[in-house]
Amino acid sequence: MKNLIVIKFGGSSITKKSENKFEMNKAVLTQAANELADALEKQKELQVALVCGVGPFGHTNVVKYDLNNGIKTEKQREGVKITNEACDFVGKEVAKALKKAGVKTKYIPGYEVCIQSGKKVTGFSILPYGKALDEGLVPITAGIMVKDDELVWSPMSGDVVVAQLAEHLKPKKVLMGTDVDGIYTADPKVDKNAELILNINKENLEEVLEKASHSNSVDVTGGMKGKLEKLAKQLNGVPAEIFNLLKEGNLEKALSGKEITSTKIKL
Ligand code: ADP
Repeated sequence: MKNLIVIKFGGSSITKKSENKFEMNKAVLTQAANELADALEKQKELQVALVCGVGPFGHTNVVKYDLNNGIKTEKQREGVKITNEACDFVGKEVAKALKKAGVKTKYIPGYEVCIQSGKKVTGFSILPYGKALDEGLVPITAGIMVKDDELVWSPMSGDVVVAQLAEHLKPKKVLMGTDVDGIYTADPKVDKNAELILNINKENLEEVLEKASHSNSVDVTGGMKGKLEKLAKQLNGVPAEIFNLLKEGNLEKALSGKEITSTKIKL
């Protein structure tokens, strides 16, 4: 039995999300790619499906072209095209970094596998992921605009892809890399008294959701609270860990089951 782990490289870590710049955070991406390559090399049973947040490449475009509530005008249709090119760019940059580190990947565009209705997933094709994994490749999907029965196109976040992969592939765990150590009692970038929540379980979930405020960068898909809400609904018992991808060694340790500072979720 293979050991499958779904990993998310958060937009806040691999792009310049907090500066709202259309730029990759190359140093973090290279470091994460190398750590992933090392883990795959050392653990022969390890399989990975990778999801990328796209930070401003998605969110800023969605706001700029007004793509969050239905596509009606030619300008919006053009905006969808521009946004998807930008999101594909992020996915391909991640694939390039992994290739450089010696990992073979398969980029799977979200709009080829997912369909939504009123911004909710109504269909997700899991076959391409199984095929890629069987071929020894790391499938990569980025947050992106997908076809929507009601809205023509709507944004699908990386977090939604994580939830879909967790539900359908039943991985051993989900690792969510972001730019803070995990989920805090308040946004740690705003509130210096925010405390890291080490464990989230059925007993404290509601209380944590109440406290978790929104991400402080432009994020049309719900920030930390939205992330947790979606995960909570769809993890189906798969354990998840939210950790800081900016800290060197964290990904490698998390992949080999070592303790790191993080929030562990088991619902
Ligand atoms: P990513 O792009 O990595 O998926 P987000 O930007 O959506 O991540 O969410 C991470 C950001 O959420 C952090 O940079 C942090 O400032 C903000 N944030 C808001 N509330 C919280 C909270 N309760 N705990 C942790 N981070 C929070």
